[in-house]
Amino acid sequence: MNPCYLCHICDIAAARVGVILFCGLASAVNRRYDFGDALFGVPKYATPLSRIAWDKDIAVNYKLELIEVTPKRAIFLDCKEQTITLPYNFLHVTPPMSPPVCLTKCEDLINEDGYLYVDQYTLQHRRYRNIYGLGDCTSSPNSKTVAAVAKQSYVVAENLWRTMYGKEPTAKYDGYGACPILTSYSRGILAEFVYDKKPCETFAFDQSKERRLVWHLNNSVFPHLYWKRLIKGKWNGPSTLRKFTNPLKT
Ligand SMILES: Cc1cc2nc3c(=O)[nH]c(=O)nc-3n(C[C@H](O)[C@H](O)[C@H](O)COP(=O)(O)OP(=O)(O)OC[C@H]3O[C@@H](n4cnc5c(N)ncnc54)[C@H](O)[C@@H]3O)c2cc1C
Repeated sequence: MNPCYLCHICDIAAARVGVILFCGLASAVNRRYDFGDALFGVPKYATPLSRIAWDKDIAVNYKLELIEVTPKRAIFLDCKEQTITLPYNFLHVTPPMSPPVCLTKCEDLINEDGYLYVDQYTLQHRRYRNIYGLGDCTSSPNSKTVAAVAKQSYVVAENLWRTMYGKEPTAKYDGYGACPILTSYSRGILAEFVYDKKPCETFAFDQSKERRLVWHLNNSVFPHLYWKRLIKGKWNGPSTLRKFTNPLKT
């Protein structure tokens, strides 16, 4: 679960039972996805997320690396190599991403960071035409989400088929990723974006504003899409839907 999302849910749950919660969001330094001084990699969504955290008195610390956890304290290293110790009662940690160990052993297939070395648009391997990749293990510089996997699966299926018949790959992955972030028990924002941090929204309204619809999508529609469509290879993302729901975008 997205740490931002979890922080908001904890905040609401604590308020419901009358507990005062001191939430701290430590935005960790991650070599591949360093968001800088922001809660989210796409500025359109980072701004409202910071405002919402501010309104809820959630302290946000940027560029801290978690180096040690004791039963009551989390110890961080800041960018000046100084240690900062913060007390906690409940700690949610998202470790930095790394490629699977089995892949890092295949030196011919990976880039210098250990990820499967693919073209970021065709998803074809940069050295071997008969290899394609998708998902978290590839070198494409997109946000690693299930939504990305959905779109990539279409591109890989198309291009793999063409390669098997001796043709050039023509389908292009645009870097699509999506992330619903619930900010309360009734609302949320729906971040959707492509390469270069460009928003790519499915609905005609501004998705960076907190809305009830996102709560309903998250609870009723996305589980269905995941279990009944995506897992079975039948969901390639909302590009077709977007032609109707946000025609000016396409
Ligand atoms: C904490 C967390 C929260 C997330 N929340 C969201 C979210 O809210 N929305 C969203 O869209 N995305 C979310 N994601 C991202 C999403 O889970 C991933 O992008 C997605 O699962 C990537 O799919 P994948 O198939 O590429 O990799 P995985 O789902 O990681 O699948 C890789 C599989 O390969 C297996 N494997 C590894 N090594 C070997 C081996 N040697 N032999 C055989 N099998 C092996 C692993 O066990 C695993 O089952 C979240 C991720 C994390 C970690």
